[in-house]
Amino acid sequence: MRILIAEDEFVLCDQIRRALTAEGLAVDVAHDGEEAAFRGGSEPYDMIILDIGLPAKDGLSVLKEWRAGNVTTPVLILTARDGWSDRVDGLDAGADDYLSKPFHMAELSARVRALLRRRAGVTSPVFRKDAVEFDTRSGRVIRDGFPVELTSQEIAVLSYLFHNAGRFVSRTELSDHIYEYDGDRDSNTIAVFVTRLRKKLGPDFIQTVRGRGYMIDGA
Ligand code: CA
Repeated sequence: MRILIAEDEFVLCDQIRRALTAEGLAVDVAHDGEEAAFRGGSEPYDMIILDIGLPAKDGLSVLKEWRAGNVTTPVLILTARDGWSDRVDGLDAGADDYLSKPFHMAELSARVRALLRRRAGVTSPVFRKDAVEFDTRSGRVIRDGFPVELTSQEIAVLSYLFHNAGRFVSRTELSDHIYEYDGDRDSNTIAVFVTRLRKKLGPDFIQTVRGRGYMIDGA
């Protein structure tokens, strides 16, 4: 899953980026409103964290621009502690959730996971299929009660397929959602990750149809 953080406080932005990267998310950052508006309007993010107080273009204007342009990506806004009117305006402008500063990183992470799975129509942070469990909080995978060692890229592929269970996902779509903006993309390596996941999770765990892509069926 790939997300955008639009936050002009460099230290805070980096703390959020590191926390979410550690959970297996691909994270892009924007440090002002113009950059945020452009990135969020042109890249296929799975969710966006948007600071309301951004330079160059304020967060509320950025959000309105996205919604007017039919960008339906879930957005969590960050506001000042006393910014209740910003929260009201943000929610009315199409934000899906909010958090006021300062906040605990664990709460932000939990809200990010909730927004990501809500879109997938899933209520639990743990995905299950057959004898396999994938915990989105820790990135841990268990098969038949035993932990399975996966690389960060294998986890990223597994997570995207679980969040989109029941439909075929092309290699291009997968690489759009597991790599960062300036990441080294090679859609051929996706096939390698899927082969390794099948070895580790079971030969039928991920279905393939030539020309359509990969699918975990209704988990
Ligand atoms: Ca700010």
